[in-house]
Amino acid sequence: MSNDSLAFIGLDLGGTFLKYALGREDGKVLAKGKMPSRAQESRDKTFEVMFMAIAEMLEKAKSFSVHVAGMGVGSPGAVDFDHGRILGNTPNLPNWSDADIRGELESRFNIPVWADNDANLMTLAECRYGAAKGSRYVIALTLGTGIGGGIVIDDQLYRGARFSGSELGHMSINFEGPPCGCGCVGCIEAYASAPAIVKNYREKLANKHFPTPNPITTEIIFQHAKDGDLLANQVIDEICFYLGAAIGSLINIFNPQVVVIGGGVADAGDEFIQRIWQAVHGRAMEAALRGVRLERASLGNDAGVVGAFALAADCYKALS
Ligand SMILES: [Zn+2]
Repeated sequence: MSNDSLAFIGLDLGGTFLKYALGREDGKVLAKGKMPSRAQESRDKTFEVMFMAIAEMLEKAKSFSVHVAGMGVGSPGAVDFDHGRILGNTPNLPNWSDADIRGELESRFNIPVWADNDANLMTLAECRYGAAKGSRYVIALTLGTGIGGGIVIDDQLYRGARFSGSELGHMSINFEGPPCGCGCVGCIEAYASAPAIVKNYREKLANKHFPTPNPITTEIIFQHAKDGDLLANQVIDEICFYLGAAIGSLINIFNPQVVVIGGGVADAGDEFIQRIWQAVHGRAMEAALRGVRLERASLGNDAGVVGAFALAADCYKALS
């Protein structure tokens, strides 16, 4: 069977939505969709939503005359990649602890299933088809409501000994810093996640007794900075300073070829990436920094589902 006639289904499970797609190994998305994940209701409801999404993509596969050779699933939390199931609790999905993703989906559809952490799969997507295409040593950071990320070493995702790697947002860059949701202090997430950025700007405005715009979002802060607002620029300088420290350390430890920055905050644009890059210099050792590129993620909101079908394509290839 030629590669053009094979396709893979990718599912990206989130607290609010399940995103899904039918894609080919070359990265082409043939069809995609999105529906409420019903993750707050029950585990069975979430599996029902997954079954519906898969059935829809199998119908699409028929209309494209492609054979679905495997499915990939991205989920929050620690995912036991070897067994395709959740390990322990998933903080944003209270009903999803220990969910047996592979068991449920394979017994229903009789198609091989692989599952992995969602941030790992975004990283994989950028490696296969996005900003880090062609690189074998990659670090990805996603800056959003939280900070996540992934590490690729010699073209393989690094998952850790018990599949909890890699929580890049919980790298502590200040041992006397503010408390973080994870129980530690001074994590990069407490400085450069979207809520932390908004809080920083709000505090700076309050200190000067300036009125606070309502609402404040990171987009608004970046726009104010572009318009020459000094406080907004101070906030961004601080974020870049902290991110520079974190990324500099990652470069020293892993000596990657590319560091990819994604997530909603990175939508601020290339100038923001430039400012982070400036902050990295002086924070990383010259030998580790040589030849490294800092790139903005290029797959946007599709990275999760694209990474999910890329995982299935990778694993299917390894089988055959
Ligand atoms: Zn933390």
